[in-house]
Amino acid sequence: MQAAAINECKTFVCDIHGEYTSNPSKLSFLGLGGKPYCPICKKEEEQQEYKKIKKQIEIQDWQKMNIEKRFFESSFDNFNAYNSELAGHLGTCCAFADYPTGKLVMIGENGNGKTHLAISILKKLGGKIYTAYEIGLKLRKSYAGEAKEWEIFNELCTVPLLVIDEVEKVKDSESKQHWFSYVVGKRYDKRLPIIFIANCHTKSDCKEVQSPCPKCLEYHLENDVLSRIIEDGIIMKFNSKDYRAEIRAIRLGE
Ligand SMILES: [Zn+2]
Ligand SMILES: [Zn+2]
Repeated sequence: MQAAAINECKTFVCDIHGEYTSNPSKLSFLGLGGKPYCPICKKEEEQQEYKKIKKQIEIQDWQKMNIEKRFFESSFDNFNAYNSELAGHLGTCCAFADYPTGKLVMIGENGNGKTHLAISILKKLGGKIYTAYEIGLKLRKSYAGEAKEWEIFNELCTVPLLVIDEVEKVKDSESKQHWFSYVVGKRYDKRLPIIFIANCHTKSDCKEVQSPCPKCLEYHLENDVLSRIIEDGIIMKFNSKDYRAEIRAIRLGE
């Protein structure tokens, strides 16, 4: 008699999923209100937990890549290619992520989606993103003994993808005899891809009377550095207006 009672299944009602049957004598499975857990609720909870852990792992990976928090959600899927120029760039970047070789050179003023696209590639390939200033700073710190210079070079030369942002801020003194040429050369020898982002325009696109103007790439970099960047690279010019302003305008229906 007792054994039959233990194995007895009863019907319960979940507010969300309706009726389900369960064995109330299995006390260890009792949820809130003394009712056994609804199996669908239980499964959903587990899936939520799994998603949360997966996201945490992804965030750790992105932090290791030096991706800023504001780009955590950036991916090809949510890139807003609202004109043909950006649609073309999206296609180029997707192809580069599939067959990463050589260089991508993204030139354009701030806020038109360059970093979003570069990060989308970086998330697929793995590697690092640094501004030119950050690399210079890391190396200067290494001379103060905070890290070994060769470790920094080793990372820059061997990560699957290296993205150098604000490349217009490479100082001539650094670029000429120091890290820039070395890293670019080494990665070329190893056939490892590199992406340059320059937040400016080229002299040929300059609309100022006095050209090169301070927003020209040529204003900041000497010709030998520039040719290093541009040789064998795919040049992508971003001439769109401010990408974020455009999104705001679309959202507001302006
Ligand atoms: Zn339920
Ligand atoms: Zn200019």
